[in-house]
Amino acid sequence: MATAFSDPQLSEDAAYAAFEARDRTMDGRFVVAVKTTRIYCRPSCPARRPRRENVELLPDTASARDAGYRPCLRCKPDEISRDRAAIAKAVALIEQGESIPALAELAEAVGYAPHHFQRLFTRDLGVSPAAYARALRARRLGDALEGDGRITDAIYDAGYEAPSRAYADAAAHLGMSPSAWRKGGEGTAIRFAVAQSSLGPLLVAATDKGLCRIAFDEDEAALRERFPKATINSGDEDFAALVTDVVALVDDPARAIDLPIDVAGTAFQQAVWAALRAIPAGETRSYQDIARAVGKPGAVRAAGTACGDNNLAVLIPCHRVLRSDGSLGGYAYGLARKKALLSRESEVSGNVN
Ligand SMILES: [Zn+2]
Repeated sequence: MATAFSDPQLSEDAAYAAFEARDRTMDGRFVVAVKTTRIYCRPSCPARRPRRENVELLPDTASARDAGYRPCLRCKPDEISRDRAAIAKAVALIEQGESIPALAELAEAVGYAPHHFQRLFTRDLGVSPAAYARALRARRLGDALEGDGRITDAIYDAGYEAPSRAYADAAAHLGMSPSAWRKGGEGTAIRFAVAQSSLGPLLVAATDKGLCRIAFDEDEAALRERFPKATINSGDEDFAALVTDVVALVDDPARAIDLPIDVAGTAFQQAVWAALRAIPAGETRSYQDIARAVGKPGAVRAAGTACGDNNLAVLIPCHRVLRSDGSLGGYAYGLARKKALLSRESEVSGNVN
């Protein structure tokens, strides 16, 4: 007799819907057994969907085998845990490494061919192993700079071999030089405007490097409180073009747009925000998915908090994260806005299909 599917975070209907949608993020969470063929699959299996009455949801591959099912040859459900274990091991190697490991080295350590492993890793975490390692190093630099030690020490402690590389990374990932970062944005000029959007007043603020704050219902006073050491001025006509782009994004959040961003956060927050940016428009994820995507499946609550700490409303699409049962969850700017943004996106993706 098979162990019945039971997951306090996931109803049977939600699990079945994930199977229908071939939701890859649910792989490993449960398996789908097909009574007529006696075969079990991962939720994302590309094969045609059987009728629901012929499907049995089971907690894992072991229960499926116990119940007499055989693994599907197409989606190879038994390899999920091996893949996940390999990715987790690679992440651990990257995190423990003094320098950035080469792809070949990582692949060999986890027993996969380099190209295949690169694809697997990127599919699961949204970035390549090398990009993950570089972002990690830049985040470590940001963390080290929050301490009191010398900047040079922070640079070497974060794993850089030379300051020049650290300064280039800091510009790319932290949005300012290490010394400006240390001083809480001192010396950073921020321009802003409050524009009228279809979902209400929208504050848009940016440094020279990129957008640092997009928020509904906020004004200049709130911005000054957030960046007490920066020089804050109203945006000029050039700035108006950026504001127009951001406002257009509220009307059409599915619009693929590459606006420069300049947001500071802890290593964990940066990882969560990167995971949010990886959610395609018209799709949603659960807080659990986000926690898993950043390699901390147990940190669901912390992932939710990091989503809430997002500085760039709409552009970093925290509105695409729902509770595991599919309900809306929270939103810093009110659930009506979250609902409106999601429905605008689903209309767009509906037109495409
Ligand atoms: Zn399958």
